[in-house]
Amino acid sequence: MFKTRKALAALGIIAILAAYSGTTFASSEGADVSPDAALAKLMDGNKRFVEGKQAQKDIGDNRRTELTKGQHPFAVILSCSDSRVPPEHIFDQGLGDIFVVRVAGNIADSVELGSVEYAVEHLGSPLILVLGHQMCGAVKATVAGGKPEGNIGSIVKKIAPAVKKAKAQTKDKDKLLDAAILENTKNTATTLTQKSAIIKHLVEGKKVKIAAGVYNLATGRVELVEASSAGRAEGSDAASQSHEHAHAEHSHAGH
Ligand SMILES: [Zn+2]
Repeated sequence: MFKTRKALAALGIIAILAAYSGTTFASSEGADVSPDAALAKLMDGNKRFVEGKQAQKDIGDNRRTELTKGQHPFAVILSCSDSRVPPEHIFDQGLGDIFVVRVAGNIADSVELGSVEYAVEHLGSPLILVLGHQMCGAVKATVAGGKPEGNIGSIVKKIAPAVKKAKAQTKDKDKLLDAAILENTKNTATTLTQKSAIIKHLVEGKKVKIAAGVYNLATGRVELVEASSAGRAEGSDAASQSHEHAHAEHSHAGH
């Protein structure tokens, strides 16, 4: 009996420690999967979505109650706000599975970076997937040029370097938008490590992996792409990045 009491006492201490570590943030345990396994999990979900074979998900009372104790999303998705591209559906995931940051044009400014940092640093998500998509209105507006109204200009400004890059690649107007969408997705993936010391540190320590993909509106399929081509985000204020630095960039788009 003594042994049992001792064991119970030990458990009590663990519980107290767990409670204390949870005071600042909801949780820092993280999802119990490797970055590669997390990516595989997402792509499996996308396959189910494409085939119309969605998994039965617990999104009811029990799961909601369970999640009041904390969240351990296994992936962070940085995607466009477009109504046709909802990450939970595209990757066939339920409550508490993915941490989603959505902004028109899937750009990464300080607010988005802060959101991603929170997920990888405090929730322990091992994967960040930047998701662009076909026919993106934000990229389209940037390609069209002109002076955008209201605050849309701040989005266009972030996408402009990708459009410039795409224009250097192709003169074909039909291909230009797709090329710009691809470059913009890659640029955002590169920005994550260039503009965030927290993310860079975790990627270098192999705790976090960055992937990039483009969503096909018609098929529903997410095609993974190289997270960075030249490894250089030509953002308006990233021009000072050296090639040497860019070379050290981790660019995983593998499977
Ligand atoms: Zn879009």
